[in-house]
Amino acid sequence: MILSLVNQKGGVGKTTTAVSLTAALTELGSRVLLCDFDPQANATSGMGVEKGQARITVYDVLIQGAEANEAIIHTKYGDLLPSGTDLAGAGIELVSLERREFRLKDALAPLSLEYDFILIDCPPSLELLTLNALCAAEQVLIPVQCEYYALEGLSDLMTTLRAVKRSYQPHIAIFGLVLTMYDGRTNLSAQVAQEVRRHFPGKVFATVIPRNVRLSEAPSHGLPITAYDRLSRGAESYLQLAREILRKSGV
Ligand code: ATP
Ligand code: MG
Repeated sequence: MILSLVNQKGGVGKTTTAVSLTAALTELGSRVLLCDFDPQANATSGMGVEKGQARITVYDVLIQGAEANEAIIHTKYGDLLPSGTDLAGAGIELVSLERREFRLKDALAPLSLEYDFILIDCPPSLELLTLNALCAAEQVLIPVQCEYYALEGLSDLMTTLRAVKRSYQPHIAIFGLVLTMYDGRTNLSAQVAQEVRRHFPGKVFATVIPRNVRLSEAPSHGLPITAYDRLSRGAESYLQLAREILRKSGV
């Protein structure tokens, strides 16, 4: 299953969720590819591959016609299609290319049988890069930070998803929304969670990701949370989310 992690709002936990789930699903026995589709390349470094180290990146695959297979790096925590800063210019370069909305879909197609899950970590925008990620995806996974304006950005995202469905990818669907950075000590988190559940009935995962300092430390060590601190609440909750995803996907 190809799942895009998308939310045009910055800093809501897309990359943390992408890296943590890749490691957790891999640990549970799934074959997982994490496609870093953000020029910030935080998923790449979060998987332990230093930025700028990858010889071939998703940019070369998207724009230069490199094979995705050649770019993939195998790690202990799952396979990685790395990104780099050159992806920042790709939005403009894409405009003049053939099948510009479907470049990522076409590149990932030969890999779809090799993996149970291909997770695509999107940049915080709804532009051509994200459009490629949405056209490549069968379903989307939407991290929602438990803070006051959480719902505001979601209506723009829903508009975009409807447009993608109409024009490019008729089968795209919401796989689920994940509540992130939940702070059990505040009423606000509980209120936001309740609101999101009310707006998206049946679509919000039962597992909620707590705010956990170990999750924010892990990237600077180049380790997914399950390797950085196995017993943290962050690791526990992402493993639980991975189990919920496995049940829901039937993989
Ligand atoms: P961007 O839109 O810039 O790509 P993002 O949506 O990918 O951001 P992350 O990079 O995953 O968001 O998270 C933003 C920041 O919050 C990071 O510093 C990350 O370490 C931290 N963070 C994410 N989830 C949690 C959590 N559950 N508890 C504590 N810190 C977290
Ligand atoms: Mg990110």
